[in-house]
Amino acid sequence: MSPDELAPELGRLQAAGLYRRRRVLGGPQQPRCLVDGRPMLSFCSNDYLGLANHPEVVAALCRGAERWGVGSGTAHLVNGHCAAHEALEEELADFTGRPRALLFSTGYMANLGVISALAGRGDTVFEDRLNHASLLDGALLSRATLRRYPHGDPAALGRMAAEGPPRLIATDGVFSMDGDLAPIRALARIAREAGAWLLVDDAHGLGVLGREGRGTLNHLGLDARAVPILMGTLGKALGTFGAFVAGSEELIETLVQRARSYIYTTAAPPALAEATRTSLAIARREAWRRERLQTLIQRLRAGAAQLGLPLADSSTPIQPLMAGNAARALAWGQGLESAGILVTPIRPPTVPEGTARLRITLSAAHTESDVDRLLDALGALPRRAAA
Ligand code: PMP
Repeated sequence: MSPDELAPELGRLQAAGLYRRRRVLGGPQQPRCLVDGRPMLSFCSNDYLGLANHPEVVAALCRGAERWGVGSGTAHLVNGHCAAHEALEEELADFTGRPRALLFSTGYMANLGVISALAGRGDTVFEDRLNHASLLDGALLSRATLRRYPHGDPAALGRMAAEGPPRLIATDGVFSMDGDLAPIRALARIAREAGAWLLVDDAHGLGVLGREGRGTLNHLGLDARAVPILMGTLGKALGTFGAFVAGSEELIETLVQRARSYIYTTAAPPALAEATRTSLAIARREAWRRERLQTLIQRLRAGAAQLGLPLADSSTPIQPLMAGNAARALAWGQGLESAGILVTPIRPPTVPEGTARLRITLSAAHTESDVDRLLDALGALPRRAAA
């Protein structure tokens, strides 16, 4: 875009109801928060277990800063790889039941790094149409051909793979905007038969699903043979920041040698790794957080069904209320906001055209009466809009 084109394009976004605006949070990430100076009850964070402001995690970060300072100073391969990173990688490997894990600064960078390290020009990468942007961007960056199969449709993937073999198949474990689970067992069969890698991005399953919160693969009883590449993020259920890829010794060593978003960036602060070690321990041992989430999910779904609200079919803390067009999603968001409840509308291009929604997310830090308050506010939205 030329400089002259920016203002008209911004105007066009505004007119189409697609303009995005940041709100300013005036305190920690938690259900009761200060947003643009106003107290709100929030249902739009990915802090599923309520660990982002947990006192033990905060204390671990402070202690970590005292021990390690703040900046790591340089990349992992230069001199920035600290004992705190090493310890967290070992704990994540143990948590995911894989030989090794490798830390990345963000989930976005992990997906760029792993896909572009394993696929290149002349290869084909297959992805679910609703995959997270970072998985799609990873395939674009790799210069492989990207083919997107219809959402959650392994039969369609099988037909497409028969036309040209995949190098890599990638899917969200829990879809970030829909909350449904990928048909991973069927995808694993197709990947195995085609001799392709299968990468599962479990950003929204980790900490939430499976024994000790080990994620979607554990929940579905799938091991590392079925899914050789597991990506997880630390900024959602684990309440901190960053991401990792877990897999075989050879896979991780290959990423260390080839993943450009690992090699050419400063290592995350070691104190952050200390905070994540603490939050991981809490996530593993405090099963009550996952149980409470289930209780809240059931309460929300039962209440929404009584009100006749169009919640998408999801059993996870991501409970989208489908609006259709962007204007309706915005109006619903504003309606809730005037009742002191924050649920950000999600519009294209984050979701496909015609599927704008309120992406309601629940956290173990919510109470049952928080959910009741949300239901009351949803019930008070204009009925026509809720149809
Ligand atoms: N994958 C999925 C499915 C996500 O939802 C996100 C975050 N929105 C990411 C990757 C990126 O992770 P991060 O925020 O750590 O960059």
